[in-house]
Order: sequence, then C-alpha cells, then structure tokens
Amino acid sequence: MPEGPSLVILREQAQVFEGRRILRVEGNTTLDKARLKGRTVQAVRTWGKHFLLEMPTVALRIHLLMFGSYCIDARKPDKPLRIGLGFAGGRELNFYSCAARLVEEPLDLLYDWSADVLSEHWDPKLARRRLLAHPDMLACDALLDQGIFAGVGNIIKNEVLFRIRVHPESPVGALPPAKLRELVREARHYSEQFLEWKKAFVLRKHWLAHTKRTCPRCHIPFHKGHLGLTQRRSFWCENCQLRYGSS
Ligand SMILES: [Zn+2]
Repeated sequence: MPEGPSLVILREQAQVFEGRRILRVEGNTTLDKARLKGRTVQAVRTWGKHFLLEMPTVALRIHLLMFGSYCIDARKPDKPLRIGLGFAGGRELNFYSCAARLVEEPLDLLYDWSADVLSEHWDPKLARRRLLAHPDMLACDALLDQGIFAGVGNIIKNEVLFRIRVHPESPVGALPPAKLRELVREARHYSEQFLEWKKAFVLRKHWLAHTKRTCPRCHIPFHKGHLGLTQRRSFWCENCQLRYGSS
C-alpha cells in the first residue's frame, strides 16, 4: 500500500497541474465527470494517504488503496483507467486501481493537517495527547490510526517499532513518557527518511525489520504475525523489542 511519503512524491510530481484547466475526464469511475471538466486546479495537496486536487467549490480525492498507481503524461496499456484528467498540451494525470471521490466540503474544514506526519503543521504534542486518550490501544494499531498518524502505513509501523525497540503489542498507555515521545518523534523522522530513500530508489535496502527474517541486532529469527485490531503484518524481535505493560 502506498504510504504517506509516496503520496508526497505524487504531490510534488503533480504540482505541474496547478493553475491548469481540466479539459477532459476519462475512466471507468462512476463519479460525475461533468463536475470536473472545465475546472481549474487551484492546489495539489495531500493528507496522509489522500491525494487531493482542489478546485473552486469541489475537490477530487484519490485514495490508492492497496494496489493503486498513477502515470503522468503516460498510460498503462494493460490496466483499466479508473480516472484520467487531460490538460492542454496533451498533458495527462492518470490513476489506476484507486478510489476516486468528489469532496464538497472545504478541505481546511475537513482535514486536520496537524495529524499528517509529513505536514508542516504536524503537531507531536497533539499526537501524544491523542495516544494517551486511548491507553489500551496497542502500539501496532496506534501507528496505523490515520486520525493520529495520517500517512503512516505498515512499513513505517514495523520500522518505527523496531527502531525504538517497542514490541508491537505494547499498549500505548504502558509506555514510559520518554518512550511515547520517541514513538511520536520516530513516526515523523522515519517517514522523512522513507521519503528521501524512496526518491533515491533505495528504500528497501534500508528496511531493518519489514519483511525481514533475522533481527540485525540480535541475529535471531524475527517473529511474524497479523497483530492488533488492524491485523496487518508485523515483524518483531522478542529479544530486543520490549513488551511494555505485561507484569
Ligand atoms: Zn533483536
């Protein structure tokens, strides 16, 4: 699943369409294409894993789900186009295997930008407060909670917990204050590193835990399982990742 940093890359690439008018709307999406045709893109924005094209009175929201992808000024010949936008000069922004929706509400009312780990408005204090409001939530679920850590996905979750040496099944309320601060800090820090590595096409080689078999610190096998309410794949070391809250 594309995580927040991948959406930031998409946003940066799609910013060439700001100020341009949508001349053509194609694809098998069921949304009302007439609402988009003729509109000028005011801003290209992201919130977590949401890609947003802001226009006067309406916005187009794209979620790439598990296997979504996009092409700029090109097409995938082997995939059905979900939604494609055509601009002057033959320029195109095309999406595949995604969810597309029109958003009527003003984006600044709808989205809490302070919850987006890669936003300039990211607020770590608020994230800590939100975590402490759900003390029983497991660390592996908390990191995937988009209302607290918008943009964090399963890779970031596994890497953050490994780096801060926290067992994924630790309830967040059991983490000492310094460890909770570290979790919040690392969620953003690792997301920033993810972004840089992804841009340089070296993301995978920096994975320490995600999809790995052996703990690079202890040289023993990682545990692997679908943990928490989210039931997403976790990779962890029983030796160096401490399970807080178990007495
Ligand atoms: Zn270990």
